[in-house]
Amino acid sequence: MKPENSTPLSFVSTEPSSPWATYLSQVDRVVPYLGTYARWVETLKRPKRALIVDVPIEMDDGSVRHFEGYRVQHNLSRGPGKGGVRYHPDVTLEEVMALSAWMTVKTAAVGLPFGGAKGGIRLDPKELSRKELERVTRRYTSEIGFIIGPQRDIPAPDVNTNAQVMAWMMDTYSMNTGATATGVVTGKPIHLGGSLGRVKATGRGVFITGREAARRIGLPLEGARIAVQGMGNVGGTAADLFVQAGGRLVAMQDHTGTVYNPDGFEMKSTLDLIRREGGVAAHPKGEKIDNESFWDVDCDILIPAALEGQITPERANRIKAKLVLEGANGPTLPSADDVLRERNILVVPDVICNAGGVTVSYFEWVQDFSSFFWTEDEINQRLDKIMVDALNHIWETADRHQITLRTGTFAVACERILIAREERGLYP
Ligand code: GLU
Repeated sequence: MKPENSTPLSFVSTEPSSPWATYLSQVDRVVPYLGTYARWVETLKRPKRALIVDVPIEMDDGSVRHFEGYRVQHNLSRGPGKGGVRYHPDVTLEEVMALSAWMTVKTAAVGLPFGGAKGGIRLDPKELSRKELERVTRRYTSEIGFIIGPQRDIPAPDVNTNAQVMAWMMDTYSMNTGATATGVVTGKPIHLGGSLGRVKATGRGVFITGREAARRIGLPLEGARIAVQGMGNVGGTAADLFVQAGGRLVAMQDHTGTVYNPDGFEMKSTLDLIRREGGVAAHPKGEKIDNESFWDVDCDILIPAALEGQITPERANRIKAKLVLEGANGPTLPSADDVLRERNILVVPDVICNAGGVTVSYFEWVQDFSSFFWTEDEINQRLDKIMVDALNHIWETADRHQITLRTGTFAVACERILIAREERGLYP
């Protein structure tokens, strides 16, 4: 075969700190470790399919409002598309493309029989009533209905979406196709075919990979000081599990502000307060510090569990932690990865660190197909084993090539994807 000679994509910006640019540079870094499969690498640099949909709904006051929705299927070589749906005012096609690509890498890194996909709607859920959110979800599901399905592409929760949103999606898809299809989405409510352990799975996965990484670098969890950006489902659960393991949550940041307490926040009251007040800023036991100072906090483990692009080279130079656990997708810029590596700060990358969510999504999908449901203990044990085995394999790969865990994860995952790609062959 002659070398690739493809035309560049027309619909991406050249903004160097954009999530898509971050993803592309992560792919470039893995090419030397892909051997002969490197000749297929262009496959990874473009989405298989990207759908933009108009989502008009009637608002409660009788007016009509249009929202922009997306569903991107980045790669389907290893199985149906898999990935969440995000509701956020800053969502763009390019961001969803990057998130879908990270799902391709993530599902391959843990060996799940899925490709990668992602969806999103550009909206601020705080501005919409529950009824409006339901209408927007149902219309969006109908608009993307012809490319999703239990064997095609299976959405799940992501930023600002939850089990209720998944129930509306499942119902809409089922009404449109005429048969209840519980396997079309994961992260559903338990009595609609959801899985025990799914809500906490992403945070639990962050804890499991963090626990293993800490053990390997000789960092005891007993007394470890934890700083978390984003105390939602992922960050909150991970913090809780680290505190149960003897750690101390010393700093938290979210959209409401940043609070610091060197003695450690008590978890139950903290999670209750966040639920009640909608953020960390109101915490009575925390010293309020400015948002930028979060990155200077004295801590052992730093967990970015919010949005992309948070760890810049400048912030990477100030981080005190020995271990960074990426609960969020894409929180570290490639240039910041280099700084962290130079400073000997270990990063457990998103594509393995936060893969616990999609792993239990896979369990949910399997349970829906077999209509046989597992206990929470079974789920947590299987999750633990899958994550530990995947991390061990990645660790060996990274050690062998003397590369970061991120490039190691990409090496393991991209090889699996491109083997599948080659074996399937080019059609026609
Ligand atoms: N949104 C989650 C992620 O970024 C979960 C996706 C899923 O369960 O399919 O991994």
